[in-house]
Amino acid sequence: MSDTQPTTAAVAANPSTWVSMVRSAWQSAGMRITEPRMRVLRRIANYTTPFSAEQLFNDLNQDRFSPGRATVYRTLEQLHEAGWLTRLHPGMSDSGYIASWPGHIHHLICTACGTVVAFEGCALGSLIEQLSTKTNFSIEGHLLQIYGRCPSCRNN
Ligand SMILES: [Zn+2]
Ligand SMILES: [Zn+2]
Repeated sequence: MSDTQPTTAAVAANPSTWVSMVRSAWQSAGMRITEPRMRVLRRIANYTTPFSAEQLFNDLNQDRFSPGRATVYRTLEQLHEAGWLTRLHPGMSDSGYIASWPGHIHHLICTACGTVVAFEGCALGSLIEQLSTKTNFSIEGHLLQIYGRCPSCRNN
C-alpha cells in the first residue's frame, strides 16, 4: 500500500457500528454476551478522546446494574488482546486506551484536545525491510503513534 489512508475520525464517529462489530466477534468466539459487558462496550464506543480504565469504571458506575471493576478490567484486557483497543504509548497521555479495529491501524492524536484519527497503510514496510537486511534482525512488529495539533487546536 502506497498512500496513507485515514479511515475515520475515530470509533466515536460511528459508535454503534463498532459495538455491533465487537458483539459479532464475541459471538463467533463463543463468548458470553452479558448486559454488563455490553454496557462496557457502549461506553467505550462513545469516548471521543483517550480514556483510562479507572475513568471507564467510574463513568459506568452509576446504578446497581453497573459492571463491577473485575468485569470492566477483564473486558478491557480481552478487547485489547483482540485488537479492538489500542493502548497509548506511555508519555503520550495518562489515559491509556482508544477504541480501534483489529488489523494494521495506527493513530494520530491531538495533544491539546485528545481527538484521535485512525489510519491504515503505514509506510514503514520498506524501512523495516531495509533494517532487517542491514541488521539481520527478524522483525516481528512495530509501534507507531503520531501526535500533533488537530485543525481546531492549531489555530488557538
Ligand atoms: Zn485538538
Ligand atoms: Zn505500521
